[in-house]
Amino acid sequence: MSSLISLSVAELQAQLRAREVSPVEALQALQARIAAVDGTIHGYLAHDDAAALEAARHADVSLPLGGVPIAIKDVINVRGQQCTCASKILEGFISPYDATVITRLKAAGAIPFGRTNMDEFAMGSSTENSAYGPTRNPWDPARIPGGSSGGSAAVVAADEAFAALGSDTGGSIRQPAALCGCVGLKPSYGRVSRFGLVAFASSLDQIGPFSKNVRDSALLLNAVAGRDPLDSTSLEEPVPDYTALLGRDLKGVRLGMPKEYFVGGTDPQVDQAVRKAIAHYESLGAEIVEISLPHTEHAVGVYYIIATAEASANLARFDGVRYGHRTAEAENIIEHYRRTRAEGFGPEVKRRIILGTYVLSSGYYDAYYLRAQKVRALIRQDFTRAFEQVDAIICPTSPEPAFKLGDRSDDPLRMYLADIFTIAVNLAGVCGVSLPCGFAQVEGKPLPVGLQLIGKPFREAELLQIAHAYEQSTEWHKKRPAMTRQTAAETADFDN
Ligand code: GLN
Repeated sequence: MSSLISLSVAELQAQLRAREVSPVEALQALQARIAAVDGTIHGYLAHDDAAALEAARHADVSLPLGGVPIAIKDVINVRGQQCTCASKILEGFISPYDATVITRLKAAGAIPFGRTNMDEFAMGSSTENSAYGPTRNPWDPARIPGGSSGGSAAVVAADEAFAALGSDTGGSIRQPAALCGCVGLKPSYGRVSRFGLVAFASSLDQIGPFSKNVRDSALLLNAVAGRDPLDSTSLEEPVPDYTALLGRDLKGVRLGMPKEYFVGGTDPQVDQAVRKAIAHYESLGAEIVEISLPHTEHAVGVYYIIATAEASANLARFDGVRYGHRTAEAENIIEHYRRTRAEGFGPEVKRRIILGTYVLSSGYYDAYYLRAQKVRALIRQDFTRAFEQVDAIICPTSPEPAFKLGDRSDDPLRMYLADIFTIAVNLAGVCGVSLPCGFAQVEGKPLPVGLQLIGKPFREAELLQIAHAYEQSTEWHKKRPAMTRQTAAETADFDN
């Protein structure tokens, strides 16, 4: 049973269909794994074992994801399960309905299993902003798993989940995937419905998969993508089979290296692994072209104006009147709001609400919010121009490998820079994927390095094809953290 948990979704499906293993056995193997390692990792906030077991008993393994348990970030509503967004303000809140991605996963036969830890309301890059304690990186539990979807990344990397869903507003899928050594895909804006995703920044948020390999991300995207009448920002664009192009070669594919992303400041081991990956692409037949994304330096600043402005409006609904935490004592309604929010929100969420309220306030709106929107248009234009020359953009996902818990906690600006390579992708609305491309050796331990590929809007099929070609000609995605290694191939040779 021990190797069952290390299967990919596609491998598990094959075994389920061949009746070599049952959905109940697969689930129980996962539960045993969680019992063994999640005390260390703390990737899950909750898991509804009884409901999942019931679903497994009735699973139809002939469906595309029939009988496959999928871990869900605690920001996506699953009917009957808690949804806290890792915040005290939503402690005890039980979702009254399914998010559209959950309805679709269920229709594909999957079993939403477990609520993964995250930075409170998806604000952060380390999962240390969870009100329920941090998640730890399976490669080194003294280190952070990235964030905000750190729980989803960690449970996939530690074989506590076959795959997971997360959300990405400025890097929250790709950055933790990079730091935990798994695949993480942020689809194009409008590709996946956000109905039932608790909103952080509505012009940036997307839901996407975490998986052990590229094919599994394609399988999950197949299940969840497409227009949803319940989310007016989801587009009519047809949904192709995202596995259809996997296996094609890279002849004629042009990859752009943005010169602004290779200017120093990146950890030397990360830089080296990414450059080797680029050389590897060249050896596979891709043409590497230097490109420019001239407004890159403004991306982080623009993001922290737009994302906080939208968050300040979205989080106004948590007022203790309709749901969630309610202060015990208040003399009047204003005091009720004040106390409820003061007690319920953590420090980073408060910081964002205050910042967002400030940039939207009269007298400052033009100077900050309006100007940020204009620069956002320029950033989007950078990508449009780049994609006239190349099929995809290649660069690091994170400027450094996983850092130690507590290392950035008192320096929000340094924390914000963790997303320097991922944020512009959300501002432009294009798609991006992170995949393993090597290791940094830090204090005697291998720490995963992620390669980011950025694709044209709604061209996830091509993006995944390009990612898959690299993955299948390298061994990086097969490496496992010491706590999960079983075979010699998983252990051997972490040198780049
Ligand atoms: N780390 C970024 C932030 O703190 C992005 C978070 C996200 O993508 N949800 O806002």
